[in-house]
Amino acid sequence: MAISVYHSPEEVRAAMKAVQASGKTVGFVPTMGALHEGHIELGRAAASACDHVVYSIFVNPLQFAPHEDFDRYPRMVEKDTERLEAAGMHSVYLPKTKDMYPDDFVTRIHLDQVTQPLEGEFRPHFFDGVATVVTKLLLQVLPDTAFFGEKDYQQLQVIKRLALDLNMPISIQGVPTVRDEHGLALSSRNAYLSPEQLAAARQINVILRDLGSAVRKGKNIEAGEKEAAEKLFGLGFNKVDYCTVRDAKTLQKPDASSRELRALVAAWIGQTRLIDNMPA
Ligand code: AMP
Repeated sequence: MAISVYHSPEEVRAAMKAVQASGKTVGFVPTMGALHEGHIELGRAAASACDHVVYSIFVNPLQFAPHEDFDRYPRMVEKDTERLEAAGMHSVYLPKTKDMYPDDFVTRIHLDQVTQPLEGEFRPHFFDGVATVVTKLLLQVLPDTAFFGEKDYQQLQVIKRLALDLNMPISIQGVPTVRDEHGLALSSRNAYLSPEQLAAARQINVILRDLGSAVRKGKNIEAGEKEAAEKLFGLGFNKVDYCTVRDAKTLQKPDASSRELRALVAAWIGQTRLIDNMPA
């Protein structure tokens, strides 16, 4: 069946309300487009849990700092819509910037604690932008369940907290990271990489897995972090924002109360910043 396309908050809300009124559940997958197999996997998870799958595609200006890649972020809405249709997804919502952020828009959603370390340290504007757009999208679509990738692990923890703190009647489900045959986490930003940079990027997962297992076996975290960063520099990465092991829930440095650990990395190769994570 042809995919339904919605352009305004009123349209998508009315359509999803009608789906729910017919006794069906709605699964929602928010994205910024340039869709790859990782995004499609979120839709598959949604389709197995819910009757109707709706995506959104919106490159959210609020989560980019002025020096970041908002202008060059890949945009291919028609191709994305065709891909979603071919994958059997039901609906796609393509909000307009003027509807999301009219000139008199002044609200920001801010979370403490889980937003502060890691991404929060290197992209201080980022989580306010994400929390604000996700709150708006969730209120516009009002799905039963929304699906987010573990690829953006800290973001997933932030959104789970947000939904709990604001008593949203929506369940938040994480989906494991989809990787290429070399273990590289799929990302829209991989499109920026030259063949040499791609070869280096494919080592990130190996370095992260080694760091995680060394720390789990008792290696000192600071020593492990230093070695991992050196390996990344040796491959041609020019800046390592972090390559570390943290408490999987709080994302703070592990302590005696930490039950699960997570290895996480953010590193620059040329002008491209890549992130990845996995259980340690
Ligand atoms: P983005 O369009 O990059 O903002 O991502 C939209 C959603 O897709 C987010 O929930 C991401 O975590 C998720 N996602 C991105 N890449 C992957 C991947 N390789 N595997 C699973 N989920 C992903």
